[in-house]
Amino acid sequence: MIRVGVLGAYGKMGREVCRAVAEDRELTLVAAIDPVRPGEGIGALIGHPEVVLKVSEEMATLSEAEVDVAVDFTHPDAVMDNARWCVRHAIDLVIGTTGLTPANLDEIRALIDEEGNESSVFVAPNFAIGAVLMVRFAAAASRYLPSAEIVELHHPGKADAPSGTALGTAEEIARARSEPAAPSASRESVPGARGADVAGVRIHSVRLPGLVAHQEVLLGGPGQSLTIRHDTYDRSAFMPGVLLAVKEIARRPGLTCGLEELLDL
Ligand code: NAP
Repeated sequence: MIRVGVLGAYGKMGREVCRAVAEDRELTLVAAIDPVRPGEGIGALIGHPEVVLKVSEEMATLSEAEVDVAVDFTHPDAVMDNARWCVRHAIDLVIGTTGLTPANLDEIRALIDEEGNESSVFVAPNFAIGAVLMVRFAAAASRYLPSAEIVELHHPGKADAPSGTALGTAEEIARARSEPAAPSASRESVPGARGADVAGVRIHSVRLPGLVAHQEVLLGGPGQSLTIRHDTYDRSAFMPGVLLAVKEIARRPGLTCGLEELLDL
């Protein structure tokens, strides 16, 4: 049995992770950390009253509960402190919180090394298999259709923009394309009208109630276009990827980035 602690347990993703862990026969939920409603039982909240566990706001609960793997779905402002704490306390950490910068990843790598490689960290901006495939297909297509733009669409509560998936997609497209995108003659009469430029790929961030997580990659060539779209309708889409990372992390020393690293694509 792998003993799992969830950081951000009261949040939308955190609750889903708590439920998925409670329903997996190889895992046991032993800690739920969140500053929201400490002391409240998590079992009833996730529809599993047999799980007798109270939400704690103290990271030390992870050590007291002898957690093997912590899962972080918190906030871009909180995730680095959580990562430092877990690495310093030799607890493996799966990070789903988005907004980590390349400098943050370098710091995590250095810290793991400094602490004698006693813990592993796994980071994925998107745990949905369909999203990983979308990025793959977009990068493959951009070799032949180098002019590409990304539209990412999320619920209005999302803290960061553009999404981590959109940033990753732009970087993959930039790496894969054989020539630069066709130049655009448009001048912005309103700043931001053409979206954000990431590695030469325009990203447009839409935030609307009713949305969960969606992304379109539009590729254009003379006389044709290709659209690759992925839709997440429900947070359950992320759970197989999260559970896979929880089960695999002990076999991946150091820092591993991206669900694709765990899949035989
Ligand atoms: P959410 O509903 O706001 O949940 C985040 C929860 O974490 C909140 O209850 C928050 O409390 C709590 N929290 C904040 N700081 C904390 C800390 N230091 N320790 C423990 N808990 C803390 O957000 P969400 O929709 O679940 O999303 C969480 C993150 O996951 C976001 O970064 C989102 O972009 C990301 N995400 C990633 C994927 C993926 O596949 N990788 C998929 C979906 C979402 P407060 O409300 O008091 O701040």
